[in-house]
Amino acid sequence: MKELKYLNKYLKKYWLKLFVGIIITIIARVFSLVMPSYVNKSITAVEGFFAKTLTADQAKDLLQEYILIIIGAALLSGLFTFLMRQTIINVSRYIEYDLKNEVFDHYQLLSLNFYKRNRIGDLMNRISEDVGQVRLYAGPAIMYGIQTLTLFVCLIPLMFIKAPTIAFYTLVPLPVLSVLIYQISRIIHKRSTKVQEFLSTLSTFAQESFSGVAVIKAYSLEDKTNQELTDLAIEGKDTSMALAKVNAWFFPLMILLIGISNVFVIYIGGKQYINGEIESVGIIAEFILYVNMLTWPVAVVGWLTSIVQRAEASQKRINEFLQEEPSIANSVREETPLKGKIEFKNVSFTYEDTHIEALKNISFTIEQGQTVAFLGKTGSGKSTILDLVARLYDVAAGEILIDDTPIQHLNLNSLRSSIGAVPQDAFLFSDTIENNVRFGDENATMDQIIAVAKKAVVHENIMGFTKKYDTILGERGITLSGGQKQRVSIARALLKNPKIYLFDDCLSAVDTETEEEILNNLKEASQHRTTLIVSHRVSSAKNADKIIVLENGKILQEGTHEELNNIEGYYKDLYLDQLSEKD
Ligand code: ADP
Ligand code: MG
Repeated sequence: MKELKYLNKYLKKYWLKLFVGIIITIIARVFSLVMPSYVNKSITAVEGFFAKTLTADQAKDLLQEYILIIIGAALLSGLFTFLMRQTIINVSRYIEYDLKNEVFDHYQLLSLNFYKRNRIGDLMNRISEDVGQVRLYAGPAIMYGIQTLTLFVCLIPLMFIKAPTIAFYTLVPLPVLSVLIYQISRIIHKRSTKVQEFLSTLSTFAQESFSGVAVIKAYSLEDKTNQELTDLAIEGKDTSMALAKVNAWFFPLMILLIGISNVFVIYIGGKQYINGEIESVGIIAEFILYVNMLTWPVAVVGWLTSIVQRAEASQKRINEFLQEEPSIANSVREETPLKGKIEFKNVSFTYEDTHIEALKNISFTIEQGQTVAFLGKTGSGKSTILDLVARLYDVAAGEILIDDTPIQHLNLNSLRSSIGAVPQDAFLFSDTIENNVRFGDENATMDQIIAVAKKAVVHENIMGFTKKYDTILGERGITLSGGQKQRVSIARALLKNPKIYLFDDCLSAVDTETEEEILNNLKEASQHRTTLIVSHRVSSAKNADKIIVLENGKILQEGTHEELNNIEGYYKDLYLDQLSEKD
């Protein structure tokens, strides 16, 4: 139960609702106890008529009265059971909601390194599966727990008072039921986890085949893919059958044990009646009803134990990750507007997971408002520099200064809201084009959005779609070409109108003419804005105040356009890859 303590703060938050729920549970329980004893009384009344101690009319009147009481108690018990679910199960939903939000908020704080270490599937499981398991503890487990407890506390003493011998024999098989149910539900859980794992393998496989259908067809791999799916399906059938087999035991076992209890009641009760040890057969009917009332709660004890164990395991996984400290800490509270001077001092950077040293002792200064182009072959460290400016990673050695302040001493929100980044692999959400651009500034007007789309030279393309700016992107809608994506992504950054622009190879899929046009627009937009523009094409650097050429994480050359003029003069619009080969 150590891990589940974490939920206490939520249980405290909703304590009033829970408390009311518990009271209602007890009331519902008490009403449900009325019925069996009145069934007993009704039978006794009929018995009285046969024994001639009651007249027919008297017996009928009594029966009518008892039946009304039984119906009334059943209605009330039903009503309170409904209210019980409404309160306690609702609380568990609130807790689920809070916990999901907490987990999601924490996800957003964690840095990219965390996302590299963990598989997306696992992260999704944490927030759906695991929180779901925990909810079962916070709601149903508490509800059934209290229900069972009140039943035992009220009913068992009552049974012993009414008929101790019958009570004893009725109760003997029930603990066995509890233990069996516990064992079975553990096995069921194990096997159903396997089935779930299988299902996610299957859907991953199916998803990949569907998204890669073009490749499958082009290489005519249909038969091979089909065979792989068949193998998977056979494995799936076996795991599902294994689950079905244990599942099949559940109810027969329960019914068998109830049957045994009932046989005891009838046999022991009948013998006692014949011997004159009990006064009425009604008590036998009453006890049969008790056995039926007890069965589910007794089974629940077994079930609850396994639920709590599962919730504990799930909460442990959730806790492990809630305790994960964001490696990029926002240590400064106060938000300060940035101006945009950037300085790297002997910066080296190694990626944790691959141990690739992406930057080696890099130093440069970019004055506020300057435009600097980073050129270099793929893998030379250009993107890494931009990621470091946005503080997606912290450097291991050296120092990055923004406005002469070490980057760690800046408020993270101030830093990131001063940056308009267009990453190398432009990511667009499966939403409308308008909303994708609006990401740059939530309050932008439509005119502003159109203006930046024009600057990014994508307005014409968008107007060509039937739904224009309302066109949905991604899986449910249109797939943009690489160049269109890049330009929408540029529009998004322009809309933000930040102090610092980071353009990471964002014109690589755009033809040279359009590139020229965009570059001219960018020149205008990036006036008085610090701009870092990455490219492997020399032409992109034409407006830069300074060009830095990188190779293998080191600065190869640095200078103005004129200083590096010979490079451009000879190899205009050639890829630097070719250029370096000539070197
Ligand atoms: P460029 O943008 O110039 O192509 P990068 O900065 O992306 O170069 O990469 C520099 C080096 O760091 C490469 O060797 C690359 O393999 C490695 N690298 C880049 N990104 C990551 C990452 N997220 N995790 C691990 N290694 C990376
Ligand atoms: Mg790159």
